Amino acid sequence: MNNSVSELTIPDTFIGRHLINGAWCESESDEWSERISPSHGVVVSKVSKGGASETNRAIESARSAFDSGCWNGLSGKERGAVLLEVADLIEANVERIALLESLESGKPITQSRGEVSGAADMWRYAASLARTSTGDSHNSLGDDMVGVVLKQPIGVVSIITPWNFPFWILNQKLPFALAAGCTTVVKPSEFTPSSTVMMGELLIEAGLPAGVCNIVLGYGQPVGSLMASHGSVDMVTFTGSTAVGKSITETSAVTLKKVALELGGKNAQVIFPNANLEDAADAVVFGVYFNAGQCCNSSSRLILHEDIAVPFIETIIELSKKVVFGNPLNPATQVGAIVTDEHIKKIHQYVKKAEAEGATIALGGDVLSVDGLSTQFYQPTIMVDITNEMSIASDEVFGPVLTVQTFKTLEEAIELTNATKYGLSAGVWSDDIHTCLEYVRGVDVGTVWTNTWMDGFPEMAFGGMKESGQGREIGQYGFDEFLEVKSVVMRVGHTRSAWVDSRDY
Ligand code: NAD
Repeated sequence: MNNSVSELTIPDTFIGRHLINGAWCESESDEWSERISPSHGVVVSKVSKGGASETNRAIESARSAFDSGCWNGLSGKERGAVLLEVADLIEANVERIALLESLESGKPITQSRGEVSGAADMWRYAASLARTSTGDSHNSLGDDMVGVVLKQPIGVVSIITPWNFPFWILNQKLPFALAAGCTTVVKPSEFTPSSTVMMGELLIEAGLPAGVCNIVLGYGQPVGSLMASHGSVDMVTFTGSTAVGKSITETSAVTLKKVALELGGKNAQVIFPNANLEDAADAVVFGVYFNAGQCCNSSSRLILHEDIAVPFIETIIELSKKVVFGNPLNPATQVGAIVTDEHIKKIHQYVKKAEAEGATIALGGDVLSVDGLSTQFYQPTIMVDITNEMSIASDEVFGPVLTVQTFKTLEEAIELTNATKYGLSAGVWSDDIHTCLEYVRGVDVGTVWTNTWMDGFPEMAFGGMKESGQGREIGQYGFDEFLEVKSVVMRVGHTRSAWVDSRDY
């Protein structure tokens, strides 16, 4: 374990305010909330705590901006130019944003740097979509008809994001919504508001017109809930827990707005004996401990062919011991802190409950002490003797906890993969392409990785099946979510046959 002294120092408390119609403002109530770093136990940010008043003003600002045409009236080239400028500004501000991101979320600084700098590419890709967006034309409807399907921005979009990848997830949504010509209201998680506020600063610097992106800081109630129900909002895109996703569907149904949901996952990696087992073992360890397992894509389930189960488990136990858990501000750290004290208790309860139900802890299973830091760290944990009936096999634990099950046949591996209410992602490891393809076809998930784990690209759509969500983000499909389709049916010449007989008798 890595307990060495950090190379970075904690900056002064970051002060964040709402961004409404191009101006920074505090809450009418003058309420504030503070974020205590989960790793260092000190206040790292203090932000205005929004209420209904700020939320209503932000939504009306986005509505007026959309209706004025100040953004969607621009050409794709002009919108794209602003997006490209934002990409450059992100790259120029990586250190500042990454430091706050690590302190608020508990994630390692090298990971934060990667997520912030990687986000710039989303803006560049979205800029290309702004310029190349097209609809369809139909020239085969008969001599007298031409059809055109136009795509136009859906309107005002509410963007609600979680704490586990605050900047990254914002950047999976915002550039695509803006590229499409939409205007937006953004609410980050109450635990990790600062990187979103910093994004607001960059948007102003890049020349985004006032009101096109508004930011309201605060909690699910009343801010998030109002963003989901308000009559002036046309679409809600939400990333977070399945429980809150369901409540957003209910709230938004009152005005029947479009809802895109990126929710939880209980993802499996399946390993066949003919795979490259060294690569697979590394990917399993990466998949479960990345972001301390607080990741919708966490491969929290390992499904192993029984012929290789014993040596493979030994290998991943040894690898797990080498993963560097510790101070997020140390550049050598690979896994940092758990987001809240409440969450670490929940993780531990799952482990203890599974043990009481007959599972065996093969590694870890307790909180981790890191010298000089808070108690919000959890050990790398591997649990065997798991059955489908145990809640740890089907619930999203959201911690560095791996469960192991075994299979004999491909059919059984597919059945085990599908044996949860979630359907976000899955992975298969085999050198036989036919095995991989059959697995790909059989599993009910939005993304399948074959012989790799969690590689992603702005071009590749992401999203879930079953209770992992609806709709897709990033890629062409993610962009299309922010567009409304309008069919235009045009007659060529005066060839329409009359419906009413208007001849004089
Ligand atoms: P959460 O659902 O508690 O909160 C997410 C956001 O919703 C926060 O901004 C929160 O303030 C807001 N919110 C809470 N109640 C609300 C309400 N009633 N109406 C509107 N907004 C409300 O989720 P979390 O704990 O921040 O994040 C962890 C969850 O997110 C996990 O389940 C994880 O799997 C999921 N997640 C999914 C993806 C994906 O792409 N599928 C990615 C990251 C995280």
